[in-house]
Amino acid sequence: MIRIEGRGPVALALRLLLEREGVDRQALIVDPVDADLPDWLGSRALAVSLGSLQTLARVVPQCAPNALLESPGLAAPITVVEVSRARASGGTRIRAGELGTPLLGAVFRYGTLHRLLREAIDLNASLAQPAHDQATAGIQPLLTVVADGETERRTGQRTREFEQMALLAEVEAERECPGWAYERFTSEGPLALLPLPEPYRRALVWCAPESQCRARAELSETAFGSALVEAFGNALGRIRLHSARHVSPVTRRIGPLRPASGQVVIGNAAQTLHPVAGQGLNLGLRDAAVLARTLGDWRAQAGSLAAALDRFEGHRRWDRETLVATTDLLATLTCPDLFKPVHAAALTLIDFCAPIRHTIARGLMFGIRSG
Ligand SMILES: Cc1cc2nc3c(=O)[nH]c(=O)nc-3n(C[C@H](O)[C@H](O)[C@H](O)COP(=O)(O)OP(=O)(O)OC[C@H]3O[C@@H](n4cnc5c(N)ncnc54)[C@H](O)[C@@H]3O)c2cc1C
Repeated sequence: MIRIEGRGPVALALRLLLEREGVDRQALIVDPVDADLPDWLGSRALAVSLGSLQTLARVVPQCAPNALLESPGLAAPITVVEVSRARASGGTRIRAGELGTPLLGAVFRYGTLHRLLREAIDLNASLAQPAHDQATAGIQPLLTVVADGETERRTGQRTREFEQMALLAEVEAERECPGWAYERFTSEGPLALLPLPEPYRRALVWCAPESQCRARAELSETAFGSALVEAFGNALGRIRLHSARHVSPVTRRIGPLRPASGQVVIGNAAQTLHPVAGQGLNLGLRDAAVLARTLGDWRAQAGSLAAALDRFEGHRRWDRETLVATTDLLATLTCPDLFKPVHAAALTLIDFCAPIRHTIARGLMFGIRSG
């Protein structure tokens, strides 16, 4: 028996991916999944990379890139990512076309993605069996997969505080620019405006010191819109608030994938990133996909489970460590005056040098392969 703890997108994707690998549904002990998500979570915008869309499409056909382009109400395709310094020179654009892909990713609301995964599970009622099912009560699982998201510190985790919080909201912009996602480095922290499925609507993730975030959360709607344009610039014209504002803590954590024998940790339970590059879920889905493939192979070959899990840990090492290091660096590129020319030069170099740009883009879309 394999026990999967958790009811977020990574746990649900793992259930579906394991079934696709031929793991018997009756061999899974899972948590009951509630359809009602708290608003702060259900409304979170998730930029899902092309690689993650391809993984999800194996078990949720609506997530296939072409399916999303045909029914844009589910998620907003991303075709261009503009990375630049706020109100300063130096910047770059990554376009899907130059990489030969139809899109770079798509932005879902957490609630939409969770519903699609739940529906895929419900199509197969026996996959939805709860942990306390009579048939499984009292059985000691061979393996427990912890995928229950971020909690207070777990044993062995390395933590980093950024002295930033994230102000989250939905806004409506005067200009649409469909498919464009923006990442601006301000002097206080990164500011992202991501497309949403509704025309003119965008998700805002505005990182800054806590006092700034809290003060902005209290501004009048008009003053907030002006402050946002002041920080972001005029690319989208006037911007007005379109939702409640949430202030969310930002902490990076990374811990061991195998803290105890018979236990594997994946998704946000294993690592929580700064939201600067929108990569936490993508990393968690890669954890789930590699674990499902590892367990599928182990079942087929009837080898040692410990050896299979060693391989899993090895496969995931570089992807996790590289992304943690990259997002830590990006999060703190707040440009003290001394470094501004270096930052501008680096962005300009990336803009002029297509191979560097493409390598970065592919790393963010598909992760770092190893092992
Ligand atoms: C502000 C912000 C923006 C982000 N943007 C991106 C992004 O653009 N792209 C990206 O890849 N990642 C992004 N992330 C990270 C992403 O949200 C997480 O990496 C991802 O949700 C991890 O999934 P998980 O299943 O491991 O854990 P979680 O999503 O944390 O899920 C598990 C937890 O969710 C809660 N939960 C789940 N289902 C229910 C339910 N039915 N009822 C009540 N609670 C429930 C529970 O608290 C549970 O412990 C962002 C994170 C933040 C904070």
